[in-house]
Amino acid sequence: MPTNDKAFKELIQSIGKGLVITNPVELISYEIDGALKSGTPEVVVLPRSVQDINHILRWANKHDMPVIAWGAGTGLAGAAVAENGGLVLSLSRMNRLLELDKYGRSVVVEPGMVNQHLADIADTNGLSYPPDPASGRSSTIGGNIAANAGGPHCFKYGVTTNYLTGVEAVLADGQILQLGGRAFDYPEYDFTGIITGSEGTIGIVTKAYLRMTRKPPGVKTLMAAFETDQRAGEAVSALIANGLVPATMEFMDQKLMRIIEEYIEAGLPVHAGAALIIEVDGYIESLSAQMNEIVTILQEHNSIDIRTAQTPDEREKIWYGRKSAAGAMARLAPAYLPLDITVPRSKLAQTIGKINLICTHYELQAAYICHAGDGNLHPLLLIEEPDNSSYMERIHNAGGEIMKISEEFNGTITGEHGVGIEKREYMHLMYNEDEIRAMLEIKGLFDPRNILNPGKVFPKIQGKGEREIGDRDQGLVSQIPDKLQPQKYPRSEEQVREIFQQAAYEKLPLGIRGGGTKSSPIPNVEHILFTNNLGGVNNIAPEDLFVNVGAGTTIDELQNELADHNMWVPIISPWKNSTIGGMVAANFNGPLRMRYGGFRDLVLAMKVILPDGRLLRAGRPVVKNVAGYDLPKLFVGSHGTLGLIHELTLKLAPLPRRRTSLIVPAESLELALKLGTQLVQVCLVASALLLCSGCENLGDAAYHLVYTAEGYPENVSAELSQVRSVLDTHGINRVEQIDSYSGSEIWCKWIRTQTSPNGVKKFHPQLVRFGIPPKSLPGFITNNAGNLTSTPFIADIVNGLVYAAQLPDAGDLPVSALESGGYAVMLFREKQPDSKLDECNYIPDSLAFMRKLKSKWDPENILNPGTFFPSSHRNQD
Ligand SMILES: Cc1cc2nc3c(=O)[nH]c(=O)nc-3n(C[C@H](O)[C@H](O)[C@H](O)COP(=O)(O)OP(=O)(O)OC[C@H]3O[C@@H](n4cnc5c(N)ncnc54)[C@H](O)[C@@H]3O)c2cc1C
Repeated sequence: MPTNDKAFKELIQSIGKGLVITNPVELISYEIDGALKSGTPEVVVLPRSVQDINHILRWANKHDMPVIAWGAGTGLAGAAVAENGGLVLSLSRMNRLLELDKYGRSVVVEPGMVNQHLADIADTNGLSYPPDPASGRSSTIGGNIAANAGGPHCFKYGVTTNYLTGVEAVLADGQILQLGGRAFDYPEYDFTGIITGSEGTIGIVTKAYLRMTRKPPGVKTLMAAFETDQRAGEAVSALIANGLVPATMEFMDQKLMRIIEEYIEAGLPVHAGAALIIEVDGYIESLSAQMNEIVTILQEHNSIDIRTAQTPDEREKIWYGRKSAAGAMARLAPAYLPLDITVPRSKLAQTIGKINLICTHYELQAAYICHAGDGNLHPLLLIEEPDNSSYMERIHNAGGEIMKISEEFNGTITGEHGVGIEKREYMHLMYNEDEIRAMLEIKGLFDPRNILNPGKVFPKIQGKGEREIGDRDQGLVSQIPDKLQPQKYPRSEEQVREIFQQAAYEKLPLGIRGGGTKSSPIPNVEHILFTNNLGGVNNIAPEDLFVNVGAGTTIDELQNELADHNMWVPIISPWKNSTIGGMVAANFNGPLRMRYGGFRDLVLAMKVILPDGRLLRAGRPVVKNVAGYDLPKLFVGSHGTLGLIHELTLKLAPLPRRRTSLIVPAESLELALKLGTQLVQVCLVASALLLCSGCENLGDAAYHLVYTAEGYPENVSAELSQVRSVLDTHGINRVEQIDSYSGSEIWCKWIRTQTSPNGVKKFHPQLVRFGIPPKSLPGFITNNAGNLTSTPFIADIVNGLVYAAQLPDAGDLPVSALESGGYAVMLFREKQPDSKLDECNYIPDSLAFMRKLKSKWDPENILNPGTFFPSSHRNQD
């Protein structure tokens, strides 16, 4: 540690005077975040640029100084605290909006921007940035990313990770790394997903690429009172079972309501045992219908008092009470411990009952705030005697037992606050040593000297020093196995592990094959592991909105079983025998992505078998989970090169009550693009906006736009009339309206036709996907019209994806995609010797880390060799 002035002078020289704080009085402001533990940093530095951060990290390395990122210090897990001293890197000076793409609904911001500031920018541009932590007025986007923050709107809209398409990050040694970017589905391991929620232990986020949504035109809010917690919980389950997706469902118990009421007189129903705040959004035309349906269900489920806000002031009043909870609690005792567990939502009432028993046992007071829609529960334990060590021991023991309940219900020890210091010793409740080690191995790749936020998130693994913790014991193969047969159909995880061990022992490349539908390339190797016998729908939980399936389950089988429950997983494949495991590994997202998210958003949990035989249980069947690294993200789109996905838990959605498409002919590409770009502004409940060239059965125009809207019927009608208004302004009235099929189905059919047309001999299917930042999509299509229009193509406009088939000559297309900040990948490559498209040339900035991870987990390079890494860089793969 640099205790001498010389080292600090060196730092001041490179960063600038006034930006380096060593004065002990000023350091006090950085001693503690929103949690209980504190620590004093040696120095606080306020960088203004990524170059500053590069200098600071190189300096920290030289002086062996831990570096702890600091956003606004509102974290509730001690994650930003310099518990053993070190350098606190405060990002408050890096708070600029770097780019606003109103058309493509995205922004690029620096990490110090405050969440509410971004929400305001979105709002004034007719957009919405949904992640809305209650700390939004002070917490920063960098802190939100590092903690994967969520808020009341996350039941319907998801958490921070669902809006982040890429980051720029500075690594521990000062390297500046670009992960992902403005486009979707980059062909690289999803390290963006890993850095999200990693609490500053992997890299310092210096730039965030974020997506937004269209701002819903209207919202309506009600408060419903119930006699007991149990009844409120049952009402939540009933709303979900009826296929309703309110924007928020917040729960307060009687104790909390009384505490708030004594504080601010918000008019809460304190006579009731519990209350729900329910908000719906969408087109104005749909709000009353949605509300009426909700009110009927609440009445049927014993609500004793329902108040619907009739004016913005009345709505404000309802929320005012809920948002004053923290202030109200703070009056009652010197401190309180806000816990943060998530359980499947149907278990909420039971969980509260159990927590009450724990509090009675330890003679403690608790009140509850709860994001009832997503099962995220915050028991607030009052700390009346913070200086009394035996009292504090009771608080910690109660906290520990409450976290154990979450594990008992297959939930998580932290839904949105993170692990930090406060919960690291409880990580063993959720993860075994192999799982924690796998996370530490990732940390080790990016930060081998353990400079970034050391000691946070992870418990110490016995007998290991922190620096060795990522090193796994060798020698997992216990005996010399039998010779590997060319075709293997394992039925269990045990059999998969045996096959992997055999393959590693014999150093045999092994292909993994799901449905064999080629949505993911399969290596040309002799030994193939088929996943067909790893199928089956294991557990459908409509009330908790998840389904658990074996990876070999086909999409048809899954959706058919779910339809009996009026549910589906909003994914689609051109081939009905595609397996769910194969689709996730290929990350082959259809147009539905814009309405429901991609695979990375829909996979909640998975069981994966690594090439060395380790079985990882990653994620949980809940939407909010920030305990440790988000491992499932790594396997989505990794094309089976990192491990075999054995089992998946996916998010369910109610089947849309109405789905309608408009097919709009356009005689010129220019007109089709013009209409397409205008219609982007309309999309709120759209599930496809496609520009099609060469789609059979759509009509005889050269181009067609396909617009599908789905969901609540009144929303669909309102949206389609907005679409028609746009078309009217161009004098277009020759529009076909159909309910029988959707844009996604048109996309599927087109891909099937392009890859396997009936009866065509000597056909070499070839399909390329271009991922383009949405704002650059019209330019990309216009500039490359000469090449593109020589073949059939589909542009998925909002998602920025262009699919082109049978391109005879790539021309400048891949280069043009790269220049826009996107990429090109060959989806199907049945050899065409002269095709320049064979080499699409997207080289991820993180390639070296992808390679290191691959060789760490698959040292013999047995799994799916040659299928994923860029071909010019394939010596490892
Ligand atoms: C009253 C109150 C209400 C809250 N409500 C919610 C809520 O509803 N939902 C919710 O999710 N959370 C909530 N929180 C918790 C907290 O606000 C969030 O975790 C928030 O995301 C932290 O942001 P911050 O800028 O304050 O980060 P900090 O607390 O400063 O840091 C949090 C973590 O992020 C790391 N970090 C910060 N910036 C970067 C960066 N640029 N690069 C890498 N790592 C970085 C830090 O090292 C630390 O590990 C609440 C907190 C309070 C006090």
